[in-house]
Amino acid sequence: MEQLSRYDALTGAYNGGEFRTLLGVACSRKIPMVLVALNLRNFKYINETYGLSTADKFLRGIKRCLDSIQQPGEFFCRQSADVFYIALRETEAEKAMERIETLQHRIQQTATTLLGQYPVSIYCGIVLTAAAPEPFSASAKHNYMMAALAQAKKCQKENVYIYDQELHKLEQTRLYAESNMKRALEQEEFQLYLQPKIDLSTGLLTGAEALVRWQTKDRGMLFPDQFIPLFEENGFCVHLDLYMVEQACKQLRRWMDEGMAPTNISVNQTRLLFASEGYVSKLLAITEKYGISPQCITLEILESLVLDHVEHINACIEELRSAGFRISMDDFGSGYSSLNILGRLKIDELKLDRLFLMGAAKDTDGSQRKIMACILELAKQLHISTVAEGVETQENEQMMVQLCCNYGQGYYYSRPLTIADFEREFLAPYSRHVQAGVH
Ligand code: C2E
Ligand code: CA
Ligand code: CA
Repeated sequence: MEQLSRYDALTGAYNGGEFRTLLGVACSRKIPMVLVALNLRNFKYINETYGLSTADKFLRGIKRCLDSIQQPGEFFCRQSADVFYIALRETEAEKAMERIETLQHRIQQTATTLLGQYPVSIYCGIVLTAAAPEPFSASAKHNYMMAALAQAKKCQKENVYIYDQELHKLEQTRLYAESNMKRALEQEEFQLYLQPKIDLSTGLLTGAEALVRWQTKDRGMLFPDQFIPLFEENGFCVHLDLYMVEQACKQLRRWMDEGMAPTNISVNQTRLLFASEGYVSKLLAITEKYGISPQCITLEILESLVLDHVEHINACIEELRSAGFRISMDDFGSGYSSLNILGRLKIDELKLDRLFLMGAAKDTDGSQRKIMACILELAKQLHISTVAEGVETQENEQMMVQLCCNYGQGYYYSRPLTIADFEREFLAPYSRHVQAGVH
């Protein structure tokens, strides 16, 4: 029992619980340490290619490598499958990095013996306890280590990420967002900003994209990049996105009540919504509540979402379209775009990612431009309208006009604006020309 409760059965290393106990003791004695979370890239590949028993041997081999670099007062554990936590009695980053390099070298030797020529790649998140905030809180240290590991995972070039001020700030925002999101939604801290979409053939407003801003009480304004990825992870994005649809409809209602011609509003929709129960009826309940035709609303979905589950997404798209909503594919060209998908999905609009335009603008041999021209032509043949994102200059605009793209959006026309600014700058002079949902 004692053995089971403290040790990992596979490798004989300590388990995660024991590591936390030992870390708690070290922290209470105020011993400065360097904590390392180590993970293997593509361990799944090793499992699948070499089989479970060889993969297990490899994990036991890693445990022996860790034994071999361990010094008095140090400890480590296997936290889960291929994740190890190590506590080194070091105070300087350089010294710790040297030891990690030695470790990496030994792990590679083990891999070469067991797996042949397989080049192992490890990545590590590191925390220097004495330099980090709350230096002797074990639980804070544990969170920092996880955050640094996640950061190292994202970064393909550097294998080691040291927990620093920048990451600490990100983590604090993350914690803030997580613990305040529900209250903020109830207290209407999420605000609707609008960025105009311009018809490139007339120069007139044709619609606007709804972009969320979080006006916090105590941290100023937060931008989507600071909380949307988290909300995608924890599922809260579903609520926020439906709230944004509601805000858009509310705004359209106000404009109509004030006698202004409303413009079409595009709302970003998380991939999670497409898998959620009753999505279409929830949307219809919102548009009905405000007496808005679904034709005034465009739903922007991400290209990456579509690639995975074409059949399911297509069924959902058909249902949304027959209810009257317009469907736009966002960020096309940012991931692994497939031209094939354009033929298989019944979408109304294609938004070309900002980086696509940037690439074409910097093009030296004209190849990017040719690709863009082909995509625009293909979309035209399929009766899909096209939007260029990130139009920042007159040259950008001219290029997109020449390439026969239908609409443009970007800082050249305007940054995302508050409702009041949007009305003043775009609705008043344009409203007579614009009709919602007509393209
Ligand atoms: P996106 O949907 O691609 O939105 C366009 C982003 O590009 C916006 O950033 C906008 O401010 C920025 N942008 C527009 N024109 C230009 C330009 O000319 N140059 C440059 N450099 N940038 C330009 P923002 O508002 O920070 O939004 C970032 C992303 O967050 C959005 O990218 C979207 O994916 C997501 N997002 C924003 N609001 C929502 C929302 O309500 N729900 C969901 N699910 N995602 C949202
Ligand atoms: Ca978008
Ligand atoms: Ca986009």
